[in-house]
Amino acid sequence: MKKIPALGLMLVLQSAAAGAVTVDCGRLLDVKTGAWRERVTVVVENNIIKSVAPTGNTKGQIDLGAHSCLPGLIDMHVHMSMETQKQVDAMRDALTRNPADQALRAVPLAERTLMAGFTTVRDLGAEGGIAVALKNAIAAGAVRGPRMFTAGKSIATTGGHADPTNQLSQRFGAAIGVPGPADGVVNSPEQARQAVRERYKEGADLIKVTATGGVLSQARNGMNAQFTDDELSAIIKTAKDYGFRVAAHAHGPEGMKRALRAGIESVEHGTYMDDEVIALFKKTGAWYVPTLSAGRYVAEMAKQADYYSPLVRPKASAIGPQLAATFARAYKAGVKIAFGTDAGVFPHGDNAKEFGYMVEAGMPALEAIRAATLHAATLLDQSNRLGSLEAGFAADLVAVSGDPLADISVLQQVKFVMKDGVVYKKP
Ligand SMILES: [Zn+2]
Repeated sequence: MKKIPALGLMLVLQSAAAGAVTVDCGRLLDVKTGAWRERVTVVVENNIIKSVAPTGNTKGQIDLGAHSCLPGLIDMHVHMSMETQKQVDAMRDALTRNPADQALRAVPLAERTLMAGFTTVRDLGAEGGIAVALKNAIAAGAVRGPRMFTAGKSIATTGGHADPTNQLSQRFGAAIGVPGPADGVVNSPEQARQAVRERYKEGADLIKVTATGGVLSQARNGMNAQFTDDELSAIIKTAKDYGFRVAAHAHGPEGMKRALRAGIESVEHGTYMDDEVIALFKKTGAWYVPTLSAGRYVAEMAKQADYYSPLVRPKASAIGPQLAATFARAYKAGVKIAFGTDAGVFPHGDNAKEFGYMVEAGMPALEAIRAATLHAATLLDQSNRLGSLEAGFAADLVAVSGDPLADISVLQQVKFVMKDGVVYKKP
């Protein structure tokens, strides 16, 4: 079976329930030991890896003999329903587009993400049910994209990061009404509990809270604490009833401390973490998701006079450059780090640039790859199924030319993508 066109290959794989599909890898990264295995063949059956063994005399159906194989990459922080644009245009779109318009525009963003080698993503916030709909469409095979886990609508407090009515004129505000728990805005422990249950009803897989102000929201403060302790603990306790893990967006230290003490599973961005925050990370075992890509991108775009609004621009200039230094400190201190980019704040498909930023800030390439495979899978509670190439795991496999441990930038040119046993891209 040589030189079959992509479509033919997909058909072969999709009808492979009866037989196995074999992939010959020049070498394959065992993310658990950190060692390359030379010349191995991955056997895939029913979308699951059946075996990973030394290549024998029989030629496999898919020849990646000149390539390095890795587990499908996992990004723990994306916003599949949006993509960066001039903020004045984003405001216009928010006023003129329906969720259906946004959902259709998200379709190519999902495909771009998958083609970049990211076979699984955690979507941390979308309005209008878009992320849940996209996740379901991808799972049903109607849209090409990564396997998604989504928080649905982020949970915020009034005026906080993710209050959908921030800075609207009074006229629009009055027409929309005061957003409540169904819209992801809460102001008491009781509303917090309801907001979690609304996410369950919405079809979410986890919960996202905006524990502090944020960079891109139309509000003055990018780092103040925005939830009380009792609101946070109501969210986290209720989330447990539904099997949800809780991720907290946070820039300022007070919001991180409250979230970590309440039992949050991951802190996103973590820009101004201090020593007490680092100690709390270590004590609780929570994960840090750095999103260095977002920091770099917003700081760069803030140099333009009119890309962001006057409220947002100074926050983007200040918070962006701080992230890499924070990441370096957290890594040295032994904080658990999972790979996450905040794609959507920058163009989707550029997710792998994050690896370079992590390595630049002092993390060895192998650890950066583990953050996007083993560790991300653990944070997703999917460590028995995702993040490693071994028997019994989902057949999510990517391949690159060259050695990503020696040159991490090769991960920006993924040549082969298989997700759930289906080939989406080949050399
Ligand atoms: Zn985000």
